[in-house]
Amino acid sequence: MSAWDAVVVGGGPAGSATAARLASAGFAVLLLDRAAFPRRKPCGECVNPAGVAALHRLGALDRVLAADPARLDGWRIAAADGRAFLGRFPADVHGLGIGREVLDTLLIEHARDAGVEVRTGLKVADLRREGGRVAGVVIEDGTEIASRMVVGADGLRSVVVRRLQLLRRPPRLRKLALTAHVRLPEPMAGRGELRTLGAGCVGLAEVDGGRANVTVVVTGDEMHAVGGDRDAYFDGALLRCGLAGAERVDDVLATGPFDWPVRRAIADGALLVGDAAGYYDPFTGQGIFRALRGAELAAEAVEAALHAGDVSAAALAGYERARRRAFGPGERLQHLVEAFVSRPRLLGWAAGRFARRPVLGDAIIRATGDVRPVSSLLSPSLVARLVL
Ligand SMILES: Cc1cc2nc3c(=O)[nH]c(=O)nc-3n(C[C@H](O)[C@H](O)[C@H](O)COP(=O)(O)OP(=O)(O)OC[C@H]3O[C@@H](n4cnc5c(N)ncnc54)[C@H](O)[C@@H]3O)c2cc1C
Repeated sequence: MSAWDAVVVGGGPAGSATAARLASAGFAVLLLDRAAFPRRKPCGECVNPAGVAALHRLGALDRVLAADPARLDGWRIAAADGRAFLGRFPADVHGLGIGREVLDTLLIEHARDAGVEVRTGLKVADLRREGGRVAGVVIEDGTEIASRMVVGADGLRSVVVRRLQLLRRPPRLRKLALTAHVRLPEPMAGRGELRTLGAGCVGLAEVDGGRANVTVVVTGDEMHAVGGDRDAYFDGALLRCGLAGAERVDDVLATGPFDWPVRRAIADGALLVGDAAGYYDPFTGQGIFRALRGAELAAEAVEAALHAGDVSAAALAGYERARRRAFGPGERLQHLVEAFVSRPRLLGWAAGRFARRPVLGDAIIRATGDVRPVSSLLSPSLVARLVL
């Protein structure tokens, strides 16, 4: 008999939220992370409005708000040719800007308070198996931990995905992101900014503590230009995109590629949640919402499987279907947005169009903010405004 009902691998938003939900439901849950918290994570650090609502449902929003995050009312998107539009969230909702070392630590604390045993500084290297099904994990030093189920919430390049051989193909979309915090000469008035450059883009948003997050995404041949000196490349990118007055306050983190397609998010004795369960491109900033919403679906599925005493992939199939319903349209929108972002003239055309018809800019920002369904973009009146 395992001491643990579930071992959760990874203490990002997906792992800590899944673990907290399961512990609140009375299960014995162990959460493992290779990092010690607080830890930084390369990210634009913006929680979209649906992510804020998910934090509220988790019972963690008050704790997050007490850290004094920045408030986000919308996004300004600028094409490389200078054309730009503003998209606003509906007046009754907003997003948040908050450093990941702050947010993720608060969510770990929330999980601990819910009854999760959290062990950090432990890297999971393999999965433990019993009769062909996953039945726990193996730590880097060879220690085995038995559990009735394993939740893979270990992000991009997940070891759980690799050991289950669930990666569909190697990444095709090749991008590199450089992220750091800066102090800006002037406040940003509640909106984030995305400025596309010739090869890539720069995202800029205020977070907590008077800092702003700058994330530079580089594509194609430009990736070679980063070379071994990411700090120098990043500082140069600040100048190139008109942020000469910004002062960098920490080291530049690098990550990429982000394209992480998985075949499915379930296996006998295991399921995947958050980035581990599949990721494409950070441009639309939906990852934290997907991690938190995915945690709701994952916790529901694990709870049902443990109660039924059947943790087979067949018993978890409902989770796979629920994920497809919840995230399928958003994933298709991400591919469409990427098609525009990677074609500067197309993005310039769209930005000009959206600037003249603000309702279009609002609609796209609300769909990517997950406050309006993606299908709302297909309303006849919006389509008419786009093409006429
Ligand atoms: C450049 C960039 C910008 C982004 N900007 C935004 C944004 O502005 N807004 C937004 O919503 N999303 C954004 N995202 C996406 C967002 O960062 C992710 O979707 C989100 O972090 C997913 O959370 P997660 O819990 O699944 O994984 P993670 O946050 O990656 O957490 C995974 C955890 O697993 C741990 N781990 C990994 N391997 C092991 C192991 N073997 N053993 C133990 N522990 C392990 C790691 O230490 C980590 O703590 C961005 C992503 C990128 C790359």
